[in-house]
Amino acid sequence: MKHLIIFGPPGSGKGTVSEEVGRVYGIPHISTGDLLREHVSKKTTLGMKAKKYMDRGELVPDELVNEILEDALSREECRRGFILDGYPRTVAQAEELERILSKLGLHIDWVINLNVSEDEIVKRLSTRRVCKVCGAVYNLVTNPPKAEGVCDRCGGALILREDDKPEVVRTRLQTYVKMSAPVLNYYVAKNKVLDIDGSGDVATVRARVLRALEEKSVAKQH
Ligand code: AMP
Repeated sequence: MKHLIIFGPPGSGKGTVSEEVGRVYGIPHISTGDLLREHVSKKTTLGMKAKKYMDRGELVPDELVNEILEDALSREECRRGFILDGYPRTVAQAEELERILSKLGLHIDWVINLNVSEDEIVKRLSTRRVCKVCGAVYNLVTNPPKAEGVCDRCGGALILREDDKPEVVRTRLQTYVKMSAPVLNYYVAKNKVLDIDGSGDVATVRARVLRALEEKSVAKQH
C-alpha cells in the first residue's frame, strides 16, 4: 500500500506534502529534483550535464534521471515503500518505472494528484525560499523562517531558487502541461489516481491526502 507517487504542477506542494506523508507512514521521500540539485551542487558529471536544463526550466533527459531513480529505489530503506516526488514526468519515465519496479516485484499503489490553480502556483513560487545548505523549504507568507533569510534548521542562507524566477516558472508550467499531464492520463487509465484539492495550508492538504489513502486501504480490506 505504500508505493506512492505524488503528482502535480511545480509549486503544488509536492515536496512539502511528501515529507509529511513520508513521516506519517515511515517511508522515504524520493525527490528527483532534490537528488539532481545535490549532483549539481557537488558538480558531478551528471550534475554538470543536468544543470543547463534545470536552469532553463526544461526537463533533464530521461537517461540521466532514470539512472538517479534506479539508484535511489535500490536502497534498502525503499523496501518499506516510498513516495516519489517529481518522477515520472514523462510517459517514457512512467514505463521505465514500471520496468524497474517489476524487477523488484513491486508496483505503484496510488498516484496522489494535487490540484492547484495557476494563480496560486505563481504566488507560491515567488514567495518560496530554500536553504542553500540543507534544502529546507519555507514560504515568506505561509511558513516564514524565525529570522529573516536564515534557515531555522541549520542556520544556512535562504535563497530564491534560480528556477523559481518568474520567467523560468512560465517555462516550467508549459513543460508540465506538455510533457507531464499525459503521465497523469497513463495512471488514470490504470485507475490509480487520487485527486486531491491542493489549496490551503500544509496541514489541511496533508489531512486530505491521508484521509484519501486511508479510505482506499479500508476499501481494499472489504
Ligand atoms: P523539482 O524540484 O521537482 O521542481 O525539479 C526541478 C527541476 O529538476 C525540473 O524543472 C527539471 O529540470 C529537473 N527534474 C526533476 N525531476 C525530473 C524528472 N523526473 N525528469 C526530468 N527532469 C527532472
